[in-house]
Amino acid sequence: MEKVIIIGSGPAAHTAAIYTARANLKPVMYEGLMAGGMPAGGQLTVTNDIENFPGFPDGISGQSLMSLMRQQALNCGTTIKTVTVNKVALNEKPFKVFAGMEEIQAETIIIATGATAKRLSISGEAHLWQKGISACAVCDGALPIFRDQILVVVGGGDTACEEALHLTKYASKVIMAVRRDVLRASQAMQNKVKKNAKIEIYWNTNVTEALGETKLKQVKIFNNRTEKNSVIDVGGLFYAVGHIPNTDFLQGQLKLDESGYIVTRPGTTQTSIDGVFACGDVQDKHYRQAITAAGTGCMAALETENYLDRE
Ligand code: FAD
Ligand code: NDP
Repeated sequence: MEKVIIIGSGPAAHTAAIYTARANLKPVMYEGLMAGGMPAGGQLTVTNDIENFPGFPDGISGQSLMSLMRQQALNCGTTIKTVTVNKVALNEKPFKVFAGMEEIQAETIIIATGATAKRLSISGEAHLWQKGISACAVCDGALPIFRDQILVVVGGGDTACEEALHLTKYASKVIMAVRRDVLRASQAMQNKVKKNAKIEIYWNTNVTEALGETKLKQVKIFNNRTEKNSVIDVGGLFYAVGHIPNTDFLQGQLKLDESGYIVTRPGTTQTSIDGVFACGDVQDKHYRQAITAAGTGCMAALETENYLDRE
C-alpha cells in the first residue's frame, strides 16, 4: 500500500511530489501517457516560452521548465510511472487507483490532473496555434508579436472579458467576438469591458477561419444575424471559450461544481472525501497559472502530511 499517490504531472503534481517526498512519504506519481491528449508534464509542454514563472529572468521554455520540475521530483525520491489513471475507488479506505493493468491501494490521493482549454477547431487553427492563436492572454499577451496589433478575443464569459481587458495594455484595439447578443459574464465585468474605449464588441459573431502562412494575419468572421461573412486583419486570436477539467476518471465520486471542477473547501485543497486532495487547474477555474498550480500543490502536500499524522 502506498502512503500517497499523485495523479497528474503539471506544476501542481510535481510540487506536491517534491514536498511529500521530502517529508519521507515516498510518493508515487502517475504522470499519464497522453492523458486527455496532453503529454506528461501538462499544459506547459505545449507552449513556447514562460516569462512569468519566478526564477527564470530570461524566460524558459515550457518543456524545459517541466523537465526540471520532473527531475527535481525524482531527485527528492518520487517514483514516477508513465501510465494514465483510468479509474479510482474512493468509497472505502484504503482508496484504490486503477492505472493500466495495475490496481494500487493508497492511504491518500492527490489529484492534479489539470484542465484543457477548449478550442474552436476552425480551419487554419492547427497550423497557426501559438503562431498568433493562443488560449491564454495572461500568459502570451505581452509577447512582442501581439504589441500594437488588433487582437480578437472569442467568448463572452468572465474569462473573455478579463482577457480582453488584459490585452488592452498591449493591443492597439481589442475586438470581442461574441456569438450571441449578450455577454455571459458578470455585470461588474461587463461594465468594465463596455467602459473601455479600446474594446469593441462584435455581437452575433462567430470566428470561422484563421488565415496566414507562418503566422496569423487575418480571421474570417460570420455574423449569424445578418448571415454576412467578412475578413479582418488581426495580429492575434485568443480563445476564451471555457476549459474542460480532467475529471472524467473520477466517475462522480467527488463533489464537482457545475462546470466539472473539483470542489475544495475554501482556503484548502481538501475535497469532499477526507484523505483526497486536489490542486492546480482541476480545482481552479479562476487563476489557472503555473505558479498558482504549484502553490496549491504545496498546500496539498502539507495537508496530506497533516492528514497522515492525524490518522
Ligand atoms: P496541467 O498542466 O494541466 O497538467 C496536468 C496533466 O496531468 C495533464 O496534462 C496530463 O498530462 C496529466 N493527467 C491528466 N489526467 C490524468 C490521468 N487520468 N492520469 C494520469 N495523468 C493525468 N501559465 C503560466 O503561469 N505562464 C504561462 O506562460 C502559461 N502559458 C500557457 C500556455 C498555454 C498554451 C496553456 C494551455 C497554458 C498556459 N499556462 C501558463 C497555464 C498553465 O499551463 C496551467 O495553469 C498549469 O499548467 C496548470 O498546472 P496543473 O498542475 O494544474 O496541470
Ligand atoms: P464560460 O463557460 O462562463 O463562458 C464561455 C464563453 O465562451 C461563453 O460566452 C460562451 O458563449 C462562449 N463560447 C463557448 N463555446 C463557444 C464557441 N464554440 N464559439 C464561440 N463562443 C463560445 O467560461 P469562462 O472561462 O468565461 O468562465 C468559467 C467560470 O469561471 C465561470 O463561472 C466564470 O464566472 C468564472 N470566472 C470568474 C472570473 C472572475 O470572477 N473574475 C474570471 C474568470 C472566470 P455563450 O454565452 O453563448 O454560451
